[in-house]
Amino acid sequence: MRGSRRLSPYRESPRFGREWEAVARNEVKVVSMPRGGDPSWALVFPSDYGTGISNLGFHYAYYHLKKMGIGVERFFLSPIPNLSLEGRRPLQDFPIITASIAYEPDALNFLEILSRAGIPSRGRERRGELFPLIGAAGGFTSINPAMLISVADFIVLGDGESVIPHLAECFRGRRGAGDRDSIVEALDEHPSILVPALGEERALELLKNGTKRVAKTPCEESLGHGIWISPNSVFGKTLLLELQRGCGRGCPYCVLPSCFSPLRQRSLEAVLETLKRCASTVPFRQVGLVTPEAGDYPGLEPLLDTLEELKKGVSFASLRIDSLTGRMVRALRVSGRESLTIAPEAGSDRLRSRCGKAFTNRQILDKLEMASSEGIRKAKLYFMVGLPTETEEDLVAIATLAESIRKELRLGVSLSVNVFVPKPGTAWGNQPFVGVAGAENRFRILKSSISERLGRGCDVRFSSLREAELEYRLSWGGPEIVDVMEALVEKRRGGKTDAS
Ligand code: SF4
Repeated sequence: MRGSRRLSPYRESPRFGREWEAVARNEVKVVSMPRGGDPSWALVFPSDYGTGISNLGFHYAYYHLKKMGIGVERFFLSPIPNLSLEGRRPLQDFPIITASIAYEPDALNFLEILSRAGIPSRGRERRGELFPLIGAAGGFTSINPAMLISVADFIVLGDGESVIPHLAECFRGRRGAGDRDSIVEALDEHPSILVPALGEERALELLKNGTKRVAKTPCEESLGHGIWISPNSVFGKTLLLELQRGCGRGCPYCVLPSCFSPLRQRSLEAVLETLKRCASTVPFRQVGLVTPEAGDYPGLEPLLDTLEELKKGVSFASLRIDSLTGRMVRALRVSGRESLTIAPEAGSDRLRSRCGKAFTNRQILDKLEMASSEGIRKAKLYFMVGLPTETEEDLVAIATLAESIRKELRLGVSLSVNVFVPKPGTAWGNQPFVGVAGAENRFRILKSSISERLGRGCDVRFSSLREAELEYRLSWGGPEIVDVMEALVEKRRGGKTDAS
């Protein structure tokens, strides 16, 4: 495998090299990791650096590969194309390339990255020693790995911690002619590694009959924290701290209960030990709690007390308004926040309750009033349209709720409105997707009620309908979806297929 040749001409770009240098210089390493390693391994996060460096799964993958002695280097989408952050090496020089796919559009970005490097996106066009072995991993593999079957030579299903030692073992010591076949056969021995390189139909069958299954690591076995702190992350200088995986609630549209459960929690003792150890070794401004619904974590209050003692701020990835406490709001205020982000999903109590969120508009207003008394000045609210059983009254209720927040509580309001996309494996997976025309109609009704109640100045962001439609197609697509993905990448690149 080593010695895969460059597949297309590569032109060094000093400007991009310097930009990566600055990004790397600003990263603080939370744990020391060995330099170098063998074999060379490109770990791609097919989105921007700020998003990738905020993804704890990506940190874990790098850490565990490094621990196994692998020479892993990171790649992100733009603005620096196809040069590794660590060594400024071109992607096409790496014999192994794996991508962390968190969301559907990332798969498309990954194809674009491969295309820029002159690497064919279809596995069957990459047979032979000339090409690198391509792997896929990340959260999306727990939802619909079938979409990646025509692209990846191997797919890591679910949590990587228990799979990485086997992966490293398969690649170590195998290189040279004929090794590709023995590597893919060795990879196939693991129950959570799907190997389309041994046949796409076979891979599909192994998924369907449950021979290959998603790996679920107990939370206590994970490292528990991020390995870099970067001012360029979407959270700023933040230590990522893991509290739990999966979710014990059952919202029917959400992939957490169906694809990432059971609920696994790190003990408070372990979380506090991790936090204090990291705080004594590296500087950071705040902690980003990696958990679905922070309010559900039983040790949250003592954790917030400890953060206050350590003079660290906090950011919650997700907040359910029904479990929001004054203590949580105070922690946000101490961290300098003046706005609160919540996801009521629906404007009416009836439809919200169908979504698994049995709290009323009155409860939302009461909680926001409490938050306002603690100094919160703005509420950011996330809604979905196109939900099962939705009526025009449900849409109007979104505007009415926003109006009450602004007029009764005198809080600033911003709305983010997305389209419901049914996902495989969820309780609402068999519900219809409203499509572009259906969503457009709902957006029109909502825009008119918002403008009637809140005037034209209301801060509202509507999601892209084309992207929602693409998300729907990709999240249900099988191996054949590669045709659509390739066509879209070609369109994006204006027909260019050479390395840029
Ligand atoms: S939406 Fe939140 S509370 Fe509901 S299942 Fe998903 S993570 Fe849990």
